[in-house]
Amino acid sequence: MEILRTVEDMQRFADRVRQRGRTIGFVPTMGYLHEGHVSLVHIARRHADVVVVSIFVNPTQFGPGEDFESYPRDFERDRRMVAAAGADCLYCPDADEMYPPGYQTTVCVREVTRNLCGLSRPAHFEGVATVVAKLFNAVKPQYAVFGQKDFQQLVVIKRMVRDLNMDIDIIGAPIVREPDGIAMSSRNKYLGTAERQAARCLSRALDAVRSRADEGERSAQALISLARGIISAEPLGRIDYVKVCDAVTLQDVERLEREAVMAVAVFFEKARLIDNTILHVDGPQP
Ligand code: AMP
Repeated sequence: MEILRTVEDMQRFADRVRQRGRTIGFVPTMGYLHEGHVSLVHIARRHADVVVVSIFVNPTQFGPGEDFESYPRDFERDRRMVAAAGADCLYCPDADEMYPPGYQTTVCVREVTRNLCGLSRPAHFEGVATVVAKLFNAVKPQYAVFGQKDFQQLVVIKRMVRDLNMDIDIIGAPIVREPDGIAMSSRNKYLGTAERQAARCLSRALDAVRSRADEGERSAQALISLARGIISAEPLGRIDYVKVCDAVTLQDVERLEREAVMAVAVFFEKARLIDNTILHVDGPQP
């Protein structure tokens, strides 16, 4: 596996792959990898001849007082995991390489960034869209895989790619969970034993909501109350939001009429966890 650290080296690698008529599948990450990330690599491998994984903890998507400094990092472990997952190239630029002196351009995706995490993290998605656009220009992929765990991020990237005519297929990947239901996340490392136990309320609430919707409940407010009840029963968590939104526009909905998403964000002492579930309106899904 090649390890590349500069935009120029990455672009030359991509040019060589493309000149040979081979396709590139890309998995951007912030490292401290887990099985959720590995599943993305496997999906990329099914679509493309050459798989590139990036690791970059992007400072511009963290707000003041958020966890940029303390975000978990373990390059050696990540390198071994990326190689074992079967990737061909690991791209890990540093912050000066991504944002050299004089840097001043950003990508702002407007409407789909306003709700959900955009409410409590106002600059977050501008940072995400900008860094992903820059990574796309370095890696030159035909396919890029993003997890549905970060559902709003996936919607934002799809919107950006469409609006800016980027010739890249964006593939959404299912949420990988721990055996007890918690969505895998690098930030789960922040949870103490009691909080780890308490954090199960997110997936429990989403399961209950999905069952209720499958039984025919169409009122968003009823589903939100159900989820809030389950999550607030855990004293260690503090709700940031519990919302039901249209799965395409991410606007709040009052009734389930088209595909919707219930998305939740909950603060624990050192971690803010997010999770979501798609709500189909045509009855139970297999
Ligand atoms: P991150 O390193 O947290 O920025 O995540 C990198 C990519 O992995 C994003 O596309 C995430 O949505 C995805 N991802 C993170 N956790 C999971 C998970 N539990 N299941 C599937 N994909 C995930």
